[in-house]
Amino acid sequence: FELKRGDINQPVREGVEFFCDICSQEKIKIIENYTAELPRVYFDHDSVKQAVGNLITNAIDALMPQGGTITVRTGTEFSNEITWVTVSVSDTGPGIPEEELELIFEPFYSTKKIGIGTGLGLSIVRKIMEEHRGFVRVKSRLGEGSTFILYFPYQSEEE
Ligand code: ADP
Ligand code: MG
Repeated sequence: FELKRGDINQPVREGVEFFCDICSQEKIKIIENYTAELPRVYFDHDSVKQAVGNLITNAIDALMPQGGTITVRTGTEFSNEITWVTVSVSDTGPGIPEEELELIFEPFYSTKKIGIGTGLGLSIVRKIMEEHRGFVRVKSRLGEGSTFILYFPYQSEEE
């Protein structure tokens, strides 16, 4: 694990390529919308790739077997006097019931069949974001889909 300044689009792209290789065969359309010239935040390349991969894997599970669309975006958001670089993964799946939203990041929480879900994916995503002094947020509407957003804090390069 090594935090280095760089372009977050790189590990995000790699994560999508690696974890969505089956998407085209599964009636899953992937839309990639990367913002160029993002502020250079600190991140660990492999951890970001893993976090994106865990979100993509969940999105694929949510879209099976009917298919649907996964949208991956990068961008920025300014809040609490901090510029955040954001990475979001959205799906057009069934969504997550409101009462489950506080549970899904807990280790071993899974609604999937034994052998399919370990319940660790999102707890790992949350841990990775803590290691980056960032956080993960989820928005979901039943019948419409889910969006997970990773927030990476930007520190000015002058100091
Ligand atoms: P696992 O995928 O092994 O079940 P995760 O920690 O990755 O464990 O996810 C925990 C639970 O959160 C899932 O079992 C599922 O109920 C819910 N979940 C996560 N991502 C999505 C999603 N994109 N759409 C619907 N439900 C989701
Ligand atoms: Mg998972």
